[in-house]
Amino acid sequence: MSDVKEPTFRESVDLMFNRAVALMDLSPGLEEKIRVCNATYTVRFGVRLRGSIHTFTGYRSVHSEHMEPVKGGIRFAMDVNQDEVEALAALMTFKCALVETPFGGSKGGLCIDPREWDEHELERITRRFAYELIKRDLIHPSQNVPAPDMGTGEREMAWIADQYRRMNTTDINGNACVTGKPIHAGGIKGRVEATGRGVQYALREFFRHPEDVAIAQLSGKLADKRIVVQGLGNVGYHAAKFLSEEDGARIVGVIERDGAITDPDGIDIDALRDWIAAHGGVRGYGSGTYVENGAAVLETECDILIPAALEGVINLSNAERIRAPLIIEAANGPVTAGADEILRKRGTIIIPDMYANAGGVTVSYFEWVKNLSHIRFGRMQRRQEEARHQVIVDELERLSADSGVGWTLSPGFKERYLRGADELELVRSGLDDTMRTAYQAMRQIWHSREDVPDLRVAAYLVSIDRIAQSYRAKGL
Ligand code: GLU
Repeated sequence: MSDVKEPTFRESVDLMFNRAVALMDLSPGLEEKIRVCNATYTVRFGVRLRGSIHTFTGYRSVHSEHMEPVKGGIRFAMDVNQDEVEALAALMTFKCALVETPFGGSKGGLCIDPREWDEHELERITRRFAYELIKRDLIHPSQNVPAPDMGTGEREMAWIADQYRRMNTTDINGNACVTGKPIHAGGIKGRVEATGRGVQYALREFFRHPEDVAIAQLSGKLADKRIVVQGLGNVGYHAAKFLSEEDGARIVGVIERDGAITDPDGIDIDALRDWIAAHGGVRGYGSGTYVENGAAVLETECDILIPAALEGVINLSNAERIRAPLIIEAANGPVTAGADEILRKRGTIIIPDMYANAGGVTVSYFEWVKNLSHIRFGRMQRRQEEARHQVIVDELERLSADSGVGWTLSPGFKERYLRGADELELVRSGLDDTMRTAYQAMRQIWHSREDVPDLRVAAYLVSIDRIAQSYRAKGL
């Protein structure tokens, strides 16, 4: 163990911000304005459950309102605290700017272990928390739009949306007060898996640039790469599933609360997920090797490490021993500022959280737009799309004929284009475009400026610049 003190999560985010902003030419006043968290509301409320009153503590933090509504998930976990929600809200500001979703940053949390409560109890607690936030416009379609995060999902979002509508019966845009809702309660296809899908698209984009792959001391394609995933929750599960099923990568390690499973031949992600659902952990899973000290598996040799659980899991105590040459931060803040420094010196490439896990908020944006437009997503565009797709297909076919190399369009490609996209295809292609464009924006700065050492600094530079422009345009 190092005796250097690890900063808190919020301090860690500030340190990373400072490292980037030092390379910019912002006035100190604006710099400070962008860094600080605007406000954090703390609420303590009581709910009568199992014969007595239980008091819960919750937070909603608003980091930056340079664009409104502000956006960010609500987390249910025992260790939620003000420092954490403020750090997460700041990351939301930078994430939204990086992927150009027109939102400021916010985050919420409730100190609760959701596994301790029955569904009807959780519903009462969630509705009561939502009531407190709605009363103060901290949940509102044009002011502050929450979404799922650790410990919450579609079910909680449906309760929150319903609570908002009960308190605002005349608001026709009520459904847009929260995203990540079930399909039949105003949600959008592809939102549940969006963050994991975004991780997959981010890695695909990374591997489209052989120069970047070489900097990470890797070569070739994503297929057959050995991947270790920490956390098989919503994000880790979908990322691992898509990367193994669709890209031919091998998931050689999965780390969970009660230990890890390793298997050099690749783990069947759905089978392991079913086992966890039935038994509460990975222990006893029939294939691969069970490792009791799960954290040690972060340090095993692999090509890509995907921390997809909590913040701070790669820190001063283990950074030196991390052997993966490429880390993609599916979680928010999994690498502390100190660990980041150590890993950079060792040449490890980190695809930073504000980019890597932005798939969730990107698709949240589509859902919010869909709710506000009151039109089924994809439907209005159909006729126009068909015409446009035909033009694209004609042009590609002409190009392939002219090239004389006998290259033709794949039938699947052609069929998809000509059919006109349905909601899921629109969501996926919109997400893919977003992940590609944002990577290219970061990459351009990373490669063109000598003083930009890594992708995280590049990501901050892109997003801080956009936020600064927005403040300059509008005034404070
Ligand atoms: N909680 C997710 C995140 O950290 C999603 C936020 C959203 O969709 O607003 O990015």
